[in-house]
Amino acid sequence: MNTKIRELKSLTLGVPTSDGDGVKIIRFIGTSELNMLDPFLLFDAFESDQAQDYIGGFPDHPHRGFEAVTYLLAGRMRHKDNAGHEGVIESGGVQWMTAGKGIVHSEMPEQENGLLQGFQLWINLPASKKMQAPAYQEFPANEIMIDRLDNDIEIRVISGTTNNGVSGPVINNTVNPIYLDVFLPEGQMFEQTINVEHHAFIFVIEGEVSIGDSRSKINRRQMGVLDEGDQVQVTANEKARFLFLAAHPLNEPVARGGPFVMNTKAEVLQAFDDFRNNRF
Ligand code: FE
Repeated sequence: MNTKIRELKSLTLGVPTSDGDGVKIIRFIGTSELNMLDPFLLFDAFESDQAQDYIGGFPDHPHRGFEAVTYLLAGRMRHKDNAGHEGVIESGGVQWMTAGKGIVHSEMPEQENGLLQGFQLWINLPASKKMQAPAYQEFPANEIMIDRLDNDIEIRVISGTTNNGVSGPVINNTVNPIYLDVFLPEGQMFEQTINVEHHAFIFVIEGEVSIGDSRSKINRRQMGVLDEGDQVQVTANEKARFLFLAAHPLNEPVARGGPFVMNTKAEVLQAFDDFRNNRF
């Protein structure tokens, strides 16, 4: 069997912006530079110990047509939605919300000082599932599976399965996402076999890594999109922590309108109309 190691295709530094009620974020997917990486529609990183950067949170707002995944590294966020779900995500916890045909929710910091750090990812839903009932999966840190390898490599598995056979708690049988949080000691290599058709990227949280045979570097707070192949190899140039994400593209037309992501402009307009007329 031929194997092909994925190399670094492009590097993005993201775009500093704000969302919600003035929350400072850096957007890596969903920008003019990288509009989407099918099926990933948006990827935001937030990290601040200054309350004014996050205290406004994300008051009530709607979504339709995709899934929103929050992974918190530090701090506490309270979420609440109109389908009756409410809870607090803490450090190491994941909230995986399937907006489906429509949800109105808020995500507010449950702290007035200290570090708030984490990520928000939007994963598209196929046309056949955009109008499904909203669903919701939440996992605290102690329910995130950990794959501990020799050489002190640690992989926190949110979704998908590692080479070692450790699977994460989040299930999505449509795009079969892999979402890993990898801790690599200096000089060690992370290896992952993935579907050749999957789109994949890496976001470096700490340290510096190099990708594939070319040893292309990705630094802290940078995101690298990988090219084609069925093998991923990431080496830590210094002690590193990074997110690895991959998923099957949907290859469908995408029409965006703020918090709604549908297949056609007409469907987006319908979403605005439904929201305005309290049909969510
Ligand atoms: Fe939201």
